Amino acid sequence: MPINRNIFVVFILMVISVAGITALQFYYSYTYYKVESATFQKEIDEAFTEAVDSAFSRNQARVVQLFKTWIGDTSYVSITTRWDTLNKQTIFNLNEVQPVSGNSRVSLSLDTYKERTDSLTPEARNVIIDHMTNHVAADLKKGVVWYFTQGLGDRLSDAYYNTPIPRNIFIDEYKKALRRRSITTPFKVIEAKEAAPDGYCTVVIDVGVKTNAGPKLRACFTNADAFLLGRLRWVIGGSVLLLLITLGCFWYTARVLLSQQKLSALKDDFISNMTHEIHTPLTSITITAQVLKQFSHDRTAQDNYLDIILYQSDKLSALADEILAGARLEKEGMALTDVTNINSLLAETAKSKFAENVNVTVVPLPDDIKITGNRANLQRALDNLIDNAVKYSTNVNPAIVIEGHMQNKEFIISIADNGPGIPDELKEKVFEPFYRIPSGNVHNVKGYGLGLSYVQKVIAAHRGSISIEDNTPAGSRFIITLPI
Ligand code: ADP
Repeated sequence: MPINRNIFVVFILMVISVAGITALQFYYSYTYYKVESATFQKEIDEAFTEAVDSAFSRNQARVVQLFKTWIGDTSYVSITTRWDTLNKQTIFNLNEVQPVSGNSRVSLSLDTYKERTDSLTPEARNVIIDHMTNHVAADLKKGVVWYFTQGLGDRLSDAYYNTPIPRNIFIDEYKKALRRRSITTPFKVIEAKEAAPDGYCTVVIDVGVKTNAGPKLRACFTNADAFLLGRLRWVIGGSVLLLLITLGCFWYTARVLLSQQKLSALKDDFISNMTHEIHTPLTSITITAQVLKQFSHDRTAQDNYLDIILYQSDKLSALADEILAGARLEKEGMALTDVTNINSLLAETAKSKFAENVNVTVVPLPDDIKITGNRANLQRALDNLIDNAVKYSTNVNPAIVIEGHMQNKEFIISIADNGPGIPDELKEKVFEPFYRIPSGNVHNVKGYGLGLSYVQKVIAAHRGSISIEDNTPAGSRFIITLPI
């Protein structure tokens, strides 16, 4: 069936627009990824600087704490006091217990401490220790430390300048700084001289306490792309979803358009076919009725004319029935409530055909196979198949064989004939409403192309399926599968 020109144009536009939307979505996602990647680089750099600062502070706190334990250690420093009568203040004297070379003692007074303390009280001891510790803490921040005594100075120098800041402090602080930025992907802290792995690396920072003398470190992320994609998952997922919805809608619209077009072509066919089918009996009825009315006839002739009228009106009403059955099925659906014994259903259907002198063989089945469904519709469907088998076997003596068997909880019915068969490429098409195989003169065999579409609808309503195979040596075999 050639596609209508307007529909074709709509298809082309649809394809262009889907391709355009896809390309734009890719472009936006890629741009967004680039922006996220730059933001990520900025964040890991900022976090690294922040972590280095925090590590320095933590290291200073560590050294201050050490200093406090040294001066609090009486085996290392002894603290005494005396009252300076001249200046009216308490003087604190600190002496290294085991002096090293250089200045090993220091005396100091505190502006904030006005009490007279001739011998050191625990309170005064705490005051002087806190004062000295705070002093060192403030000095460390400034970078120039007042030593007090040579021994304390050497120890401070050793602990602060000569002991590198432990690497795990950096790692710990960096983790915290990253977490504040919601970055959770793993990283490695490496020396600048080490080869950087592929991926994202931070700026290099000298983490020595003495400027430019310490190790130069940076952090590298090898799995950052996966992390970034994870961050973008809603954007990418949303895009893919929208795309799928758009594609789905387009696909559905295309299908509806095509099926509408197909339907309208089929309906045109049907109408011309039907006009012919209705016209012939109607003309015959009209002419016969006129002849009856115009002339007087004997009883036998009258009966003959009336028989013609009855025969033709029967044909018309059969046509109306067929169209109505299909329409009703479509509109009302069907109740699947009858429990039917398949054997009796098949036997009954076949019996009606014996009456018409058709050779139908039913291979008997186990008697206990039952199906729940709509008996009347199932029977009408089987009837249609047998009718077809008979009416299309015009050049042979029709012989129809009906068989059934159970297979994996499904009941399979096969209706085989010895007629002309159906070509492979039309085995699905014959189920479309109004479709008739055009080969030969289709009007030789009466029909409207509705029978098989009705059968398929009935079988589908029973959650089953129907297909056609070739029969040997000739003919078709309709296979119905019904779940039990
Ligand atoms: P109708 O018989 O009213 O034309 P159907 O829907 O029953 O409509 O069948 C569609 C077409 O399938 C028929 O026109 C016929 O060409 C073909 N067909 C159906 N049954 C058989 C059969 N048993 N053998 C050969 N052709 C068949």
